[in-house]
Amino acid sequence: MNIIILGAGVVGVTTAYYLSRDGHQVTVIDRAEQAGMMTSFANGGQLSYSYTDPMAQPYLIAQLPSLMWHYYAPLTIRFSLSPEFLRWTKLFLQNCNQQRVEENTLKVLKLGLHSRDALHGLLAEHPLQFHYQQAGKLYLFMNQQEMERGAKRCEFKNQWGLQQQVWSAEQCLQHEPNLAHVRDSVVGGVFSPLDESGDAFLFTQALAEVCKAQGVTFLYNTEIQALQHQSRRVTGVVTSRGVQSADAVVLSMATESPRLARPLGLRLPVYPMKGYSLSIPITDHSPNTCLTDSKHRTVYSHLGPVLRVAGMAEVGSWDLNLKPKKVAVMEHLARKTFPDGGHFDQLKPWAGLRPMTPDSAPIIGRTPYENLYLNTGHGMLGWTLSCGSASVLADVIAKRETKVSLLGLDLGRFG
Ligand SMILES: Cc1cc2nc3c(=O)[nH]c(=O)nc-3n(C[C@H](O)[C@H](O)[C@H](O)COP(=O)(O)OP(=O)(O)OC[C@H]3O[C@@H](n4cnc5c(N)ncnc54)[C@H](O)[C@@H]3O)c2cc1C
Repeated sequence: MNIIILGAGVVGVTTAYYLSRDGHQVTVIDRAEQAGMMTSFANGGQLSYSYTDPMAQPYLIAQLPSLMWHYYAPLTIRFSLSPEFLRWTKLFLQNCNQQRVEENTLKVLKLGLHSRDALHGLLAEHPLQFHYQQAGKLYLFMNQQEMERGAKRCEFKNQWGLQQQVWSAEQCLQHEPNLAHVRDSVVGGVFSPLDESGDAFLFTQALAEVCKAQGVTFLYNTEIQALQHQSRRVTGVVTSRGVQSADAVVLSMATESPRLARPLGLRLPVYPMKGYSLSIPITDHSPNTCLTDSKHRTVYSHLGPVLRVAGMAEVGSWDLNLKPKKVAVMEHLARKTFPDGGHFDQLKPWAGLRPMTPDSAPIIGRTPYENLYLNTGHGMLGWTLSCGSASVLADVIAKRETKVSLLGLDLGRFG
């Protein structure tokens, strides 16, 4: 089949890889001049297979009003009267109960573990260079109550083979001695040995080269404007270079996916959650461990010559402006945690929009249009879930049995 993939982020490029391996003629279209230039560019770098807990949690309901006012908090929500915001928030609130939390955690966890296997399989064939580390991740708690909650979550997740370990503050410090400056704040942690890290941008670029060698065509600097359709079939993709046609089309445009799908009557609840990252040249005292600071919702990854610090979550922010005060808040936190951990005077800030769904799970699979497929809405975990989502979608298109159930991952779950 001739297949067009809309979007050359980590999700679009991994999709191109698996589809071209199946023998399809694949074309990837993107407005940028190369692959991985948007949300996949400078994310946290964590392959966080064990942390698939959704953002929608029961305790957030009470905090919602304050989240709309505290602009510099790690999580904020920008209120809007737009139908997209109101629908997204309604669906989000419907997911803020314990039963949904378990279901949402589990379905993404299964996809995450499949993604890990898929990435390993891919790397066995193509040993790509992207500062890949298979050294686990340490999730730090700064508060006893959260620590207890975290320990309980371990019990739940270990039933699925994650081998998570609950560690005391001492064990955390032993594992990562560069945490010495925050010794008194750390209550304990959970170590996830299966988690990994790597630079998503380098991976995307390197995989795009593999795809090219497999015969995939990349149309860069090309704006995707609309989908032409006739009786439940997409007949063409309108772009700044004219109309492109194919037997099938895959939509992987992150937060831009809903805009393209809406004229076809498809309402994709994918909404932006802006985040920031800092890339800081490392020193001898940079942390070696992949870390998450649960209190400040901030992650630290050692990506080759760079310490990547990522955090902030602004639901409903569409702009990519770097707000100096937000950058300063993150820099302050990183300096406080690892005062000698990097050359802070040379830090490079970046902002991206996480394509969030209300249940923090991606949307993968068929649509009511017989030749239009979705692989989008990967939220906080698009790097982690990319290989799994792409290989599952390739199974759907090939009409093979999928390795992970698509129940709860398809568009149908939103009604
Ligand atoms: C601060 C931050 C930290 C993060 N940390 C992590 C992490 O540690 N681990 C993890 O797993 N995930 C993380 N994520 C999430 C992850 O980065 C995303 O989920 C992932 O990059 C989404 O990939 P994508 O391919 O769907 O989107 P993108 O990479 O944004 O790709 C979409 C592509 O579509 C193209 N496009 C859009 N509209 C058009 C159009 N009209 N015409 C042409 N082209 C178009 C864009 O140019 C873009 O290249 C983080 C995100 C942020 C913001």
